Amino acid sequence: MSTVVETVPVDFERQREIAAALRAFMPREAVLFEREDVQPYECDGLSAYRQLPMVVALPETEGEVQRILETCHAKRVPVVARGAGTGLSGGALPLGNGVLLSLAKLKRILEIDPAARTARVQPGVRNLAISEAAAPLGLYYAPDPSSQIACSIGGNVAENSGGVHCLKYGLTVHNILKVRAITIEGDIVEFGADGLDSAGYDLLALITGSEGMLAVVTEVVVKLLPRPETAQVVMAAFDDVAKAGAAVANVIAAGIIPAGLEMMDQAATLAVEHFVNAGYPTDVAGILLCESDGTADEVADEVRRVEAIMEGSGATMIRVSGSDAERLKFWAGRKAAFPAVGRISPDYYCMDGTIPRRRLAEVLQKITELERKYELRCANVFHAGDGNLHPLILYDANKPGELERTEAFGGEILEFSIGVGGTITGEHGVGIEKVNHMCVQFRPAELETFHGIKRAFDEHSLLNPGKAVPTLHRCAEFGRAHVHAGQQKFPDLPRF
Ligand SMILES: Cc1cc2nc3c(=O)[nH]c(=O)nc-3n(C[C@H](O)[C@H](O)[C@H](O)COP(=O)(O)OP(=O)(O)OC[C@H]3O[C@@H](n4cnc5c(N)ncnc54)[C@H](O)[C@@H]3O)c2cc1C
Repeated sequence: MSTVVETVPVDFERQREIAAALRAFMPREAVLFEREDVQPYECDGLSAYRQLPMVVALPETEGEVQRILETCHAKRVPVVARGAGTGLSGGALPLGNGVLLSLAKLKRILEIDPAARTARVQPGVRNLAISEAAAPLGLYYAPDPSSQIACSIGGNVAENSGGVHCLKYGLTVHNILKVRAITIEGDIVEFGADGLDSAGYDLLALITGSEGMLAVVTEVVVKLLPRPETAQVVMAAFDDVAKAGAAVANVIAAGIIPAGLEMMDQAATLAVEHFVNAGYPTDVAGILLCESDGTADEVADEVRRVEAIMEGSGATMIRVSGSDAERLKFWAGRKAAFPAVGRISPDYYCMDGTIPRRRLAEVLQKITELERKYELRCANVFHAGDGNLHPLILYDANKPGELERTEAFGGEILEFSIGVGGTITGEHGVGIEKVNHMCVQFRPAELETFHGIKRAFDEHSLLNPGKAVPTLHRCAEFGRAHVHAGQQKFPDLPRF
């Protein structure tokens, strides 16, 4: 499939000028502009959107990153930072008149401090590589996106990524202490501190989730946690997703914060089971995976309580992992959900939204209605504990109109999520994919505040322009206005 949303014709003269300016301080092979060389960078994980970059820069040092940014600023060339390119909202989609700045070669773990329980790493380090390096010290980095084998910590910071264990241990923003970054003007800035708090505005929180629009991250100090002594997973099956949704609420209401609490509907469970044989039942409406970790006594106690809650919530089958190998097998299934769905459909569109947990059943019901309306199937995977939805809409881009129907389907899910008091993203960012729906989520004055922040960092809007924050003009063209729960402007959205 290939849907090129933006085909900016290459200005060859400008391309050669920028490449030459970068090659003045970088090796020739680190500055690419021939079509076959830049093509691998034409999209991220949202492959429906593609655009060839004008130039790709592959720096190896922070100093080179600094000079690239200075050069682009001086020549008014837009810059898109890229980590591993696994983003699912088109955040690293290049610009036809811009430089694609890959941080992939800055991949050194600079320091692990077991006493402080921190690691200082370059932005291109893979998420999982941090835990692998810390493992001999009995430590690990908690946020675990399902893409952790590939995605970079710089991308994680830019997207404020989450994962199955973020319910208990928090998102990226809760697991980093300090970020070093470079502004578009080439100034080195540090946000955060070695301690828990720092003076001044909380710019560490601001840079986290800023989708490459404020500064380019060149170093991250992450927190490391001691590996829990043991862990076990309770798998519970339900004949009704509403009951599974209620079980999630009941676990939290009982004061339990599981290490992970995930849900898959039947379509997702079937796809996964046929792909990895994780041991999931397939004749059920949905399953929950609930992990407890800690000391052996803590885990035994929590597992007992979780089992009782699942039973009381109407689970038709409950299994507890009997060994670490079985626990990992249960998770292997959940973590392979996206590729498993990729096997049963030519294409799939992964949505990301967050809703209040108690509205889960209602949102699932709405998604089922939308499947009928758009005549497309949808498999649902959730970080249920934190209300983060990942509807995977199955489609075939080669069939005329299917991609457009898929996007409209996804758009309705997002608007419904806002209507029930949720947000249009949980962990995948806004990027290009959901930029229009920011108009629905936020008031004009709120969007203007975002623009003010952007201007403070990047006066000429050169860092990842056009992503994440829509102009008010774009919102007017999109024809949708901000809607908050209780004051909806769309009659088909739920009112409460
Ligand atoms: C199979 C699969 C499963 C996934 N599962 C999860 C999941 O469980 N949880 C989750 O949160 N996400 C998940 N994702 C999405 C994705 O992996 C994350 O968003 C990840 O953080 C992106 O990292 P990356 O290095 O690939 O960044 P990229 O895709 O390269 O870039 C993402 C954004 O970050 C910016 N950026 C990258 N590096 C820097 C930098 N050094 N400085 C400034 N900006 C930068 C880019 O400009 C872009 O806006 C999944 C993706 C896939 C394909």
